[in-house]
Amino acid sequence: MPEPVTAIVGGQREWEDRGWFPPGPKLAICLSGGKNRLDDLTDGELLQVAAAARRQTSWAQSRELAAIAELTRRHTADEDAGDPDYRILSARESVTEEVAAALTVTSDTAANLVHLAERLTGPLAETGEALGAGQLDMAKARVICDVTDRLPEEAARRVQCTALEKASGQTTGQLRRRIRRIAQRLAPEAIEERKREATRLRRLEVWDTPSGTTDLALCDLAPEDAHAIYNKITAAAHGIRTDGDTRPLNAIRADLAAQLLHGAELPDAIRAVLKQGCDAPAPTDGRDPASRQPVSAAHHHTGPRSPSPRSEPGGTSEDLSGDTGIAALADEVDRRLRHVQARVQPRELPHTIRRTVQRIHDQFSDARDAACRGGDEVHGRPGYRPPAAMRRDVEARHPTCVFPTCNQPSHRCDLDHTVPWRPGTTCRCNLAPLCRRHHRLKQRADWRLFQIWAGLLIWVAPSGAWYLVHPDRQ
Ligand SMILES: [Zn+2]
Ligand SMILES: [Zn+2]
Repeated sequence: MPEPVTAIVGGQREWEDRGWFPPGPKLAICLSGGKNRLDDLTDGELLQVAAAARRQTSWAQSRELAAIAELTRRHTADEDAGDPDYRILSARESVTEEVAAALTVTSDTAANLVHLAERLTGPLAETGEALGAGQLDMAKARVICDVTDRLPEEAARRVQCTALEKASGQTTGQLRRRIRRIAQRLAPEAIEERKREATRLRRLEVWDTPSGTTDLALCDLAPEDAHAIYNKITAAAHGIRTDGDTRPLNAIRADLAAQLLHGAELPDAIRAVLKQGCDAPAPTDGRDPASRQPVSAAHHHTGPRSPSPRSEPGGTSEDLSGDTGIAALADEVDRRLRHVQARVQPRELPHTIRRTVQRIHDQFSDARDAACRGGDEVHGRPGYRPPAAMRRDVEARHPTCVFPTCNQPSHRCDLDHTVPWRPGTTCRCNLAPLCRRHHRLKQRADWRLFQIWAGLLIWVAPSGAWYLVHPDRQ
């Protein structure tokens, strides 16, 4: 039982003189007064409450990161032993996927969190402590982490030390400017190398925005290139405005850039402006477009997907006739697993959940085959490769990779035999799209994927957490 509010605030009004309460359980109680109590506070006190809530958030985030760091440490401690097997996802990446599924965030976001968690509990432990004490927020901790990334140990330590002196009184922008200068002075070669490495991952990105438009961006160019392009387009746009165009400058710049990328013929005068100083060399270092962004730089723009892997299926449930739709089946399975979870020792959970789902899968075996045979479809095809119509069918059922947080379109995925071919069949009840990464995740012994009904899949993570994936879950 938490202490009642009155025990903490006594006869005082709820917030009186509590501006600098440290974060933690007591502050949580002081903050939980609700809307009515806020009515009694002065403007100054309201601002204190806002600041205190932020401190409390930092505290909670430091707990989140500490838990992730512990999980990572536990599972990656003995990873280096033996040859890495490229067909199987590494333990570190497996932890990332487990975090992604548990927190319903993308793999990139989870990789960022794992990286941040390791640094704030390791080389940047003082920053981690400051976060836990509410002296700085997550955004500032990220700035310190980004600026010191891959710096030599001593340089990173000194940058951190300088950062923490003033971080609580600086915005992220001020903090970044200040410590970047220091990092540049302390470790110019490391900074240069980091930049070279980042430009190797240069790319063209496209993503849809909430307003229904689409952004198109050239990312991680060398700064001199990017600024040269921007300045030239701006100069040309000014020229167009001077000639009487009334569109806003931003719109002219965007239209001009789009025209150029479409390969449109431009008026001579504009071409002349754009050609000025066109000799800036493009970076010529190694090209490695396929390699993944290592972590920190958060270049993630895909919109959030439907948050719960347990949500209702948007599509039909043609595989189950009568009253029992796929959703009902999924709910029933979920209920059974919760029942098991409530009765098992935590250490036994992963093993027990895996075994239970296996049993459910086996129990449905005959009914599943019969449902397949009963439709117009034939159950099972002779070869390993699914026929085109079956592929289309499975891709329509799952428009993306079937990992709960993955957005990879299924036409760019492998069609995986959930139970490996022979004894597994080539059939819609045993096929599902998996992107390369999650295909490799499935190869790990501590992850399991079951297809308990055609299109209804269950992932069991190493922790014993399970994720139901419905057909057509977009
Ligand atoms: Zn089948
Ligand atoms: Zn995937």
